[in-house]
Amino acid sequence: MAMERTLSIIKPDAVQNNVIGKIEAQIEGAGLSIVAVKMTRMSKKQAGDFYEIHKGKDFYDYLIKFMTSGPAIVQVLEGEDAIKKYRKVMGATMFGEAEPGTIRANFATSNAHNAVHGSDSAENAQREISFFFPERQIYSRNKKVTNSKLETAA
Ligand code: ATP
Ligand code: MG
Repeated sequence: MAMERTLSIIKPDAVQNNVIGKIEAQIEGAGLSIVAVKMTRMSKKQAGDFYEIHKGKDFYDYLIKFMTSGPAIVQVLEGEDAIKKYRKVMGATMFGEAEPGTIRANFATSNAHNAVHGSDSAENAQREISFFFPERQIYSRNKKVTNSKLETAA
């Protein structure tokens, strides 16, 4: 399995609900390492660009409003098979469908307010990571990451 990086966001609902630490504990408990992290309130332009693929969908306008409604934690996770592993820890998108014990089962309150974001492919992970972090702000614990911009794989 490849050592990968993925972009994680703890969304404004979870920050407002004061569960940042509980979510980070689940992420670390799954064997993922936080290698870059910051709190930021996204501008409309940033959120619009970040979620460009959903433009035109009926939930798009609300999604942008929600993601800009307050501060979020944006972070880079690193680990074996990190993209898939983190999606599994997050749980299913739709409210009520997330498997018991997942972050969304524990903290989502609706389809929109689902506590966390995670990249869904290696290509999107790289795009989303570079959206928030230059390579020099990522403190890798492993030299064999396969989807980083630096191509640190041996
Ligand atoms: P994310 O991209 O945030 O990690 P995801 O990949 O599980 O979530 P997407 O299909 O990419 O799900 O949708 C992006 C986000 O848009 C969802 O996380 C959710 O906040 C919101 N969303 C998706 N579908 C709906 C819906 N039917 N109603 C309301 N909000 C939705
Ligand atoms: Mg998505």
